[in-house]
Amino acid sequence: MFLSDLDESWDLIVVGGGITGAGILLAASRMGLRALLLEQNDFAWGTSSRSSKLVHGGLRYLKQGKFLLTRASVKERERLLKEAPGLVDPVRFLLPVYEGHRTGRWILELGLTIYDIMAGRKQHGFHDPSDFLAMEPKIKGDGLLGGFHFMDAQVDDARLVLRLIDESLMLGGCGVNYTMVTQIMRNSKGNVVGVAAKDTLSGETKELLSKTVINATGVWAENLHPLPGTGFHLRPLRGSHLVFSTDILPISSALSFFHPEDKRPVFAIPWEGAVLFGTTDVDHQGDISLDPVISEQEISYLMEGLYYLFPSLDISKKDCIATLAGVRPVLGRPVLGKGGEIDPSKESREHMIWVNKGLVTVTGGKLTTFRMLARNSIKAAGPFLPKFKGPNKSVPDKRDPVFSHAEISQDLSKRLSPQTWRRLKGRYGKAANKITQMSHSEDFVQIPGTHTLWAELPFAAKHEHVRHLSDLLLRRVRVGLLIKDGGMEHMDRIQKLCQPVLPWDEKRWEDEKSSYKNLWELAYSVPD
Ligand SMILES: Cc1cc2nc3c(=O)[nH]c(=O)nc-3n(C[C@H](O)[C@H](O)[C@H](O)COP(=O)(O)OP(=O)(O)OC[C@H]3O[C@@H](n4cnc5c(N)ncnc54)[C@H](O)[C@@H]3O)c2cc1C
Repeated sequence: MFLSDLDESWDLIVVGGGITGAGILLAASRMGLRALLLEQNDFAWGTSSRSSKLVHGGLRYLKQGKFLLTRASVKERERLLKEAPGLVDPVRFLLPVYEGHRTGRWILELGLTIYDIMAGRKQHGFHDPSDFLAMEPKIKGDGLLGGFHFMDAQVDDARLVLRLIDESLMLGGCGVNYTMVTQIMRNSKGNVVGVAAKDTLSGETKELLSKTVINATGVWAENLHPLPGTGFHLRPLRGSHLVFSTDILPISSALSFFHPEDKRPVFAIPWEGAVLFGTTDVDHQGDISLDPVISEQEISYLMEGLYYLFPSLDISKKDCIATLAGVRPVLGRPVLGKGGEIDPSKESREHMIWVNKGLVTVTGGKLTTFRMLARNSIKAAGPFLPKFKGPNKSVPDKRDPVFSHAEISQDLSKRLSPQTWRRLKGRYGKAANKITQMSHSEDFVQIPGTHTLWAELPFAAKHEHVRHLSDLLLRRVRVGLLIKDGGMEHMDRIQKLCQPVLPWDEKRWEDEKSSYKNLWELAYSVPD
């Protein structure tokens, strides 16, 4: 679907195709609204494909005394684990405790106990140093007082966004990528009447009508709707990760530890066949319209953390497969009388909503709590939305399922293992069977170094709104993050599999490959 194909008039227009916009589109479609989502780039191109990929309560929020937010996040985690196995899966964390740590054993014990109470089951325990080292032999033994295990969950963030959009489409919603909202249109009384939109690839423009617009554009939110009042502004903070292969960074569980420089929590998380190591938390000075890029300082900070936790590993930044940087919007609070900004890690991560005559802006928050953001945004948009009759509610119910419950039974012809089928079902929902039907048996093997099947590529290329090769390799599947050089070594096979289903001639393929390579080197490689 392209901008030119769209109807003119809608009940609700959602701007921004990250997790927040996708969650709102799904909630609105489930309520029976005629809802349209417009994304200026690819779906999940923004922060929602660049997170730490955790669906979690967040121990740091607990430490900041944000019990309600942590509890809501833990509840969402439990729900997603139940509803989307294969997409959202449990991850076991280890947390070592060293001598001289500010956050000592008993504070952590208290935090993890509260975390378990919120989840309704005990999932943590303490181990003495020898047991702990037996579980994770490569970590620093000096000064180790022991450590905890606890449970959280992880996700493929971009695929979660895509599944929400796909689910919305099945309920009658509509989502279009590479379509930018250039203006919010208002009448003489200042009430919203629609948006002006532009197809960023063809240049075509069109006006679309709606009395309600939800601006879910994350770090870009103030471009369409500046924060009211003075003194406050959105402060873009960048968080970056390094990606290593499991051969180079062999860990059996996810690890969380306190960085020696500033005592911030840093993670090493096994993910999709590789290890994510991050994050940083720094002011983002770059142009937010471009892919964010990790800086030299961030790499040094992360490598210092890596050497601290794994002193025996012979590892350098050259071993890094890829890098990943994302920018989150936080409400920047001016420090009265000091003229400076407060420590990035102390800024609140909670979401904010502001409303003006039919325009509702929502930004901040977490991937994990997308349903809460969707509910609160639709509640704020309530006065401008058409009144409902019949079974539809005016506000989505907390107890509504995230995904439709229809049982999907496997097409047995391809003899997939239960784990492979679980993964496909989690990631693609009802479409999982289409993958088995349209692919050959030899493509039901993993692309080396990843958990991705070759068979996922042609399916995604055909059915998932792919308009550039980077959409396919960075977000539909995550080959670009998981294989050295962005997977360029596999390009011939990728082209062979996808050429029959993409309307690209030889020249377009060459251009796409070259743009992908340039983009990857610019924003996802390790800078020299
Ligand atoms: C480093 C890092 C790690 C994180 N880790 C976690 C984690 O592990 N777990 C967790 O729960 N949360 C995590 N978060 C937070 C989470 O990633 C974000 O809260 C979430 O992704 C924000 O989603 P969003 O949809 O609001 O914004 P985005 O994903 O940025 O989406 C906004 C979209 O709007 C589009 N847009 C902008 N302007 C326009 C326009 N004019 N027209 C059309 N489209 C437009 C953009 O292209 C973009 O795609 C992390 C954040 C960071 C930075």
